[in-house]
Amino acid sequence: MDPLKALADAERKPYWLDSPAKPEPLPRLFGETTADLAVVGGGFSGLWTALMAKERDPSLDVVLLEGRRVGWAASGRNGGFAMATLTHGIANGLERWPEEIATLERLGTANLDELGRTVADHGIDCGYERTGELHVATEPWQLAEMNESVEIARELGARFDVLDRERIRAEVNSPTYIGGHWERDGCAMLDPARLAWGLRQACLSLGVRIHERTPVRHVRDTPASMDLLTPHGTVRAGKVALGTGVFQPLLRRLRHLLVPVYDYALMTEPLSAERLASVGWRNRQGVGDAANQFHYYRLTADNRILWGGYDAVYYNGGKIKPEYEQRDETFVKLAEHFYTTFPQLSEVRFTHRWGGVIDTCSRFSAFYGLSHGGRLAYAAGYTGLGVGATRFGANVMLDLLGGEPTERTGLRMVREKPLPFPPEPVRSAGIQMTRWSIAQADLHQGRRNLWLRTLDRMGLGFDS
Ligand SMILES: Cc1cc2nc3c(=O)[nH]c(=O)nc-3n(C[C@H](O)[C@H](O)[C@H](O)COP(=O)(O)OP(=O)(O)OC[C@H]3O[C@@H](n4cnc5c(N)ncnc54)[C@H](O)[C@@H]3O)c2cc1C
Repeated sequence: MDPLKALADAERKPYWLDSPAKPEPLPRLFGETTADLAVVGGGFSGLWTALMAKERDPSLDVVLLEGRRVGWAASGRNGGFAMATLTHGIANGLERWPEEIATLERLGTANLDELGRTVADHGIDCGYERTGELHVATEPWQLAEMNESVEIARELGARFDVLDRERIRAEVNSPTYIGGHWERDGCAMLDPARLAWGLRQACLSLGVRIHERTPVRHVRDTPASMDLLTPHGTVRAGKVALGTGVFQPLLRRLRHLLVPVYDYALMTEPLSAERLASVGWRNRQGVGDAANQFHYYRLTADNRILWGGYDAVYYNGGKIKPEYEQRDETFVKLAEHFYTTFPQLSEVRFTHRWGGVIDTCSRFSAFYGLSHGGRLAYAAGYTGLGVGATRFGANVMLDLLGGEPTERTGLRMVREKPLPFPPEPVRSAGIQMTRWSIAQADLHQGRRNLWLRTLDRMGLGFDS
C-alpha cells in the first residue's frame, strides 16, 4: 500500500497511552509537606525508586512529584522491550568495562527476573512475556559483527540460538533476513504504559504519596532539609532522588551529559489470524535488526505490530518541543521499511504514529551520582534502553543515598561518568556529522569512516 494512504487515518498519539486503562490524575501538591525521601519524576526511574524505597523500609515516608502525568513521557510510549542488559548491549559493555562484564550481565539478568516478579506479585496487567529477542541480519557484515559478541555472551551464560536463513524465517517470515540469533532470556515484552500505571498503583498501595501535575522548579539545600519548590507547594525532604530523564535537569552538572534525541514508532491495526500466520511469529519475540540505524518491532496482546526506530533525530539547539513528537518524513520512511520487511502485509494500515524523546549520553548507558553532601541522588542517560535498566538505576540511587557500599555502587560502571557533549553550536554540528556517518556506514557494509573511528577511540558516541 502507498505509505501515505496507509498512514492517512493514523492517530498522532502514542498507542499505549491511548487506552481506557489510563487512570485519573492524582492531586497536585498544595501547601507545605515533609518527607524522608522525595522522588522527582513519575517515569520508570522515579516509580521504581519510590516503590523499592518502601519495600526496603516500609516506615519511610516517601513522596513522588510528577510534573505532568505518570508515564506520559518515554516510559509510557516506548517499544516495551524490557532488556536484561545494563550496558546497552554486551558489545558496548565489553568495550567500556571488560573486567566487569560478567558481573554486569549477572546483575542485569537478576534485575529483569526481579522486575518480572514485581509484575506478578503486584498483579500488574501489562502483558509481560519473557519471549526474548530475535537479532536479525539483513546484510552479511551485520552477521559477522553479531557473531563476535554472541560468542562472549554465551561464555557468560546467556542462551543464544544461532539461526540460519531458514530457521530465522521459520520464526518470523521476512524475505530480507539472512540469519540471526534468538537471545532467549535477555528480554521481556510488555505494555509500558500499563507497567507505569501498575507501578503507580503499587506505590500507592505501599503508602507512597504521589502528586501529579506538580513540576519541581527548584531544589533548595538548607541545613535542615532539601526543599523542593513547586508552583503551589514545597516538600521539605531528608533526601531526594531525581528520575527526571532528559528534561531540564534540576542539577546543573547534568546539562552537558545528556542530549535529547527523538525516536519514532508506528502501530498497525490488529492482524487477522490469516495475516499473522503469513508471518509466523508463534514465539512472539521482540525483533531488532542489526544495522546501525536499526528497526525494532514486536507484537501487542491483540496482535498489532509496533514498528519503530531507524531515524534518531537530534534537533539543532537541543530543545524539547511537543511538535518534535511528529515527523511525517520519518513515518513515511518507517512505513516503507515495514512493507519491504513484510511484503505479505502490504494491505495492513497503521492506527497510531508518535515520537518520544530519549536521554542520550555519550556512553549509551546510564550514569549515576550523588550531590548536596550525599542528600541527592540521580540516574539518567539510558539512551533508549531504560525499560529494564531504570529499575537497576533506582536501586543504585537508593544504595547511594543509603551511604553503605554495595556490589552495585562498587562497580566502575556506576562510579564513572560519561564524557560531556561539547557546547552548542559544536554539539549540533558534531551530532549531525555523526548521524550522517552512521547512515553512510550502513550503506557501505558497516565500514566506519574516519569521524566514527575517532569517536570510537575517544569512547564517545551517539545512538538512540
Ligand atoms: C519511542 C521510544 C521507544 C523506546 N523503546 C524502548 C524499548 O523498547 N526498550 C527500552 O528499554 N527503552 C526504550 N525507550 C527508552 C525508555 O523509554 C526510557 O529509557 C525510560 O522510559 C526512561 O525512564 P525515565 O523514568 O528515566 O524517564 P521518563 O520516562 O522520561 O520520565 C521522566 C519523568 O520526569 C518528569 N519530570 C522531569 N522533570 C521534572 C520536574 N522538574 N518536576 C517533576 N517532574 C519532572 C517528566 O514529566 C517525566 O514524566 C524508548 C524511548 C522512546 C522515546
